[in-house]
Amino acid sequence: MLTKLWRSVVGNGACRARHTLRAYNGTNKAAFSVASPDKVDVQIPVAVSPEVAKKHGFEVIKEEFVKEYGSNCVLYRHTGTGAELMSVHSADENKTFGAVFRTPVEDSTGVPHILEHSVLCGSRKYPIKEPFVELMKSSLNTFLNAFTYPDRTCYPVASCNTRDFYNLVDVYLDAVFYPRCAEKSNPENVKIFEQEGWHHELDSPDPSQLQYKGVVFNEMKGVYSSPDSVLGRVCQQALFPEITYGVDSGGDPRYITDLTYEQFCDFHSDFYHPSNTRFWFYGDDDPETRLEILSNYLKDFEANQAGVEKSRVLTQKKFTEPRTVTDYYAVSESEDPSQAGQQKAYVNVNWVLEDDVFDLETQLAFGFLDFILLGTSGSPLRKALIDSGLGEAVCGGGLEDELRQPTFSIGLKGVESSSEENLKKVETLVLETLESLAEKGFSDSSIEAALNTIEFSLRENNTGSFPRGLSLMLRSMQAWIYDKDPLEPLKWEDQLEGFKAKLKEQTPTKLFGDLIRKYLIDNPHRVTVNLLPNTALQAELDGEEQGKLDELRKGMTDEDMQELMRKTQELKTHQETPDPAEALKCIPTLDLADIPKESQEIPSSLRELTSGGEKVDILSHDIFTNDVVYAEFAFDMSSVPKHLLYLIPLFCRCLTEMGTTKEDFVELTERIGRKTGGLSAYSFTSALKDEDKPSAYIIVRGKSTKDKFGDYCEIVEDIIQNVELDNKERFKQMVLETIAGQEAAMVGRGHTYAIGRLHAQRDTASAAGEYMGGVANYHAMKGLAEKLDADWDQVHNDLKLLKNAIFKKKGMLVNLTADEKTLTSIDKDVAGFVDSLPDVGQAPSDQGSLLWYEGKDSGLLLPKQNELLVVPTQVNYVGKCTNMYKDTPYKQHGSSVVISKYLSTTWLWDRVRVVGGAYGGFCSFDNTSGHFSFMSYRDPNLSKTIDNYDGSTNFLKELTLDKDELTKSIIATMGDIDSYQLPDSKGYTAFMRHLLKVTDEERQQRRDEILSTKLQDFKDFGDALQSALEANSQVCAVTSKDMAKQAEEERKDLGFVTSQVL
Ligand SMILES: [Zn+2]
Repeated sequence: MLTKLWRSVVGNGACRARHTLRAYNGTNKAAFSVASPDKVDVQIPVAVSPEVAKKHGFEVIKEEFVKEYGSNCVLYRHTGTGAELMSVHSADENKTFGAVFRTPVEDSTGVPHILEHSVLCGSRKYPIKEPFVELMKSSLNTFLNAFTYPDRTCYPVASCNTRDFYNLVDVYLDAVFYPRCAEKSNPENVKIFEQEGWHHELDSPDPSQLQYKGVVFNEMKGVYSSPDSVLGRVCQQALFPEITYGVDSGGDPRYITDLTYEQFCDFHSDFYHPSNTRFWFYGDDDPETRLEILSNYLKDFEANQAGVEKSRVLTQKKFTEPRTVTDYYAVSESEDPSQAGQQKAYVNVNWVLEDDVFDLETQLAFGFLDFILLGTSGSPLRKALIDSGLGEAVCGGGLEDELRQPTFSIGLKGVESSSEENLKKVETLVLETLESLAEKGFSDSSIEAALNTIEFSLRENNTGSFPRGLSLMLRSMQAWIYDKDPLEPLKWEDQLEGFKAKLKEQTPTKLFGDLIRKYLIDNPHRVTVNLLPNTALQAELDGEEQGKLDELRKGMTDEDMQELMRKTQELKTHQETPDPAEALKCIPTLDLADIPKESQEIPSSLRELTSGGEKVDILSHDIFTNDVVYAEFAFDMSSVPKHLLYLIPLFCRCLTEMGTTKEDFVELTERIGRKTGGLSAYSFTSALKDEDKPSAYIIVRGKSTKDKFGDYCEIVEDIIQNVELDNKERFKQMVLETIAGQEAAMVGRGHTYAIGRLHAQRDTASAAGEYMGGVANYHAMKGLAEKLDADWDQVHNDLKLLKNAIFKKKGMLVNLTADEKTLTSIDKDVAGFVDSLPDVGQAPSDQGSLLWYEGKDSGLLLPKQNELLVVPTQVNYVGKCTNMYKDTPYKQHGSSVVISKYLSTTWLWDRVRVVGGAYGGFCSFDNTSGHFSFMSYRDPNLSKTIDNYDGSTNFLKELTLDKDELTKSIIATMGDIDSYQLPDSKGYTAFMRHLLKVTDEERQQRRDEILSTKLQDFKDFGDALQSALEANSQVCAVTSKDMAKQAEEERKDLGFVTSQVL
């Protein structure tokens, strides 16, 4: 329960393999989003009486008030089917529902994952192609997705609007219990399985064109291209060889094609049954309505005990001896001879900690141990690994306790793989470090820091944009899914007090030493995984797939080929034919009248603080934050010279991870942990509307309780004035970690790199961003790593220059979020902090190097060209970009938000995802800069995807849209704009609007325009987009070597510039 929490604070570690239905769409809605109103007079709904429950077919098993979340929780059992329901009554308006099934598997065909996708493709009451997409297009949801875990499948939805919420619940319930995909009586339904899972495709009479297609098939190819995911899977399978975790529930592309439609339907009838369901309701809606809704579905089922038995998750018997497993990940052959043989291994040491789920006490204690060992860059196990120089970055996420048996994993990536001896050193180091920590214990300050950090995070319960109700559901499920008490994981307060008392009584050295010995050092269920690079693996995998297709081809007659072509065409036609407008009306929706006309304002006041010869802007937001202060200090980047932009991200990391001249970085990290709820520094850049000058800031952001705010300011003052910049070795570690992180990101999130390149051809802010975080930054980091020893003096001087140039009162802005009384009480601390800064910074001698900040240095922009960036991958990320304001008369208008969302969820979803087989395809329009961008995610196609992008304009121009459809798309857009926000993000949103100079009047105008969007707006937008694309547009794709060659051939007209990046 703790690991997840501290990760959200520290932002660390990889998450367990979990496949989500919807890809991240990368759109930024901060500039226009509006907060929901603050609650006054909170009232928690009272649970229904047992008699009323009985009337609906439910009996109460347990009822309890959980003080940690101010919620009354009632656990019910449906007497007819045995289905369980946790009904959580709280004052939270962000209502959440979930249906969770236990879905263990015996093979790696990915059947639960394909089913997770498929059930949302039409059902009894909603007989259309994709009700899920219709909800995306028409509802006010604050969450809409589905997850496949190694042993369960979850269907969660959330909304703040009660009517909308119940609509979502009904579509989801009908989808899971009555999906068309598992309805064998209609042969048409197999198409859903083929589309979402896999099928043979043949487009032309040329048999060599025969291939496998399918959304999950392709999604998993993308997953299997990422070495970090490969590592996670190999470790899990090595730890649990005899149970369901020993195979891949997401699906291994090599075995997905073994799955038959018959097996798929059987899996549904076995596991998607009320007897095997755990339902979750959370929020401020009416308790009885929940029972009514469920009982309407459950009354038609009888208990299915056989399915329940079959769904039980077994445990892995503990090993008696530690093991070592060697496996491989694919890398491309380097064309640069100096790089040959440099490809590095992953070494990860893993344990299964317990025979079953941890008891609460151990879970809490181990959660603390995990944080103390690994939680910050100064934590001793993490630090020992990095300091050893054996690898480039830490891998393995420490404690994982979401599955039946908790595990612990830690290791290094970027390990020199030429000798086995060297690999062995990592394991030895991990074991020896644990041994010495068990012996010597931990410093008092590190334990105090861990206590404060974890307690702060539990009390703040800041789940970001994730609904709180969903976060609670997932936590509760860790016990509930294994037939244990669902409320236990939510009750941390007494456990925490007990733990603190035990710490005092036993001494931390004894308590943690015992845990380390019992669960790690003396635990024989340990597997060391060596994951080695293999340049032949990709060809082998491709060969294996081709071999299977060859085999099939051999057995096919000409008639078979014809038949397959016909079926391919039939599937495509089916996919491309929209549902009739009449059919779409089955999806319940709201009226425009349900949407408030006025945009909601976030309380903000701006004042000037005069200090020395400067005036500093103080922006503050009077919002109830439960005694926490959220504070941002923003420093403009006007005196950062162009040639040092590449150092900015490292410089920001130095601030919190290098220590100060007074304390080393371990002491500093601990002080941050003891006194604050987290602190970070990063850069922010954005184009401004109608200005060449970008908005560019270094932001120091953090939070603390009201009474520790003075300490927080003192820490910020310390790090910006006295940051230690002399530690070359530490700096080098950060450079190597940065490179390792970028390499993983380029393979896993290639679309963000592609789109970053395209924007960097267009505006100063994006070009600066490319040097600070894109492919250009990656090249700079590689160069820096090579010459760091020789050039350290220069680099060191550059870092000092940045420090003296950036931190100053001039151009500075302070943003504070807390209630008014708290804000008043911290005035003095804020003033003291501002006074401590110099009035103006030290500008570099070469004034020409600062012209970029004025938007006057066109040399910063990347050349306008079409690019292919080659990395080792089995899938593509295709970007295309143009600007709507530059070559067309198009003017900023609210309807553009509706139109780009509509385009993403219709044309692009259908062509790029459904027909094309990519995991995601979407577009975004940046209202500020005018950039219009298309992106695809884990895409099997490249040229075809570009054609589909170009086809958008005709789609818009020829669109017919009845009033209902138009209303739906407006409502869905308003759902994004009025998205639910926790207090800290309200304050932060207002701060972003201030930096981007977006006024409340302007927001109201956009809102009016959105609400009055007409069909003609779509057509006009299509015209303008077409002119813009024709006048000036570029493509950039992250792709493999082979696919790059093919694209160069197919699209000679684009004159691609190809470069191997990894
Ligand atoms: Zn998926």
